[in-house]
Amino acid sequence: MKSLTSIDGFFEFFNLRRNAKYRQLNIDWISTFKYINADSSTTTTSFKALNIKSKKVKLLIEELLTMEYLQHCKPSLYQFWTCLSCDEIETFHHLWSCTHIIPKLTEIMEFSQ
Ligand SMILES: [Zn+2]
Repeated sequence: MKSLTSIDGFFEFFNLRRNAKYRQLNIDWISTFKYINADSSTTTTSFKALNIKSKKVKLLIEELLTMEYLQHCKPSLYQFWTCLSCDEIETFHHLWSCTHIIPKLTEIMEFSQ
């Protein structure tokens, strides 16, 4: 029974309009969901586990809270906001390529190895 629910949940997620670009790619969905669910218990659900899972999914589908995303959602509030480090337009790609952020990301990656 749980397997059928999981399969239904997967296809509901897979067929969301926001995932159209991923349906074209050869993605190992089993490994992807193993990664997303790695911190979750199979018998209970906690707010902490849901929060971690939510962040992993937002990272996966490139929907982290960037200024570009906020400008799309609330244009009247965020119309002129830019990257706080360099004043360029903050897109999802910019989060990982901003010349002011790369040294910090590199430091985090080296520290976590
Ligand atoms: Zn920047």
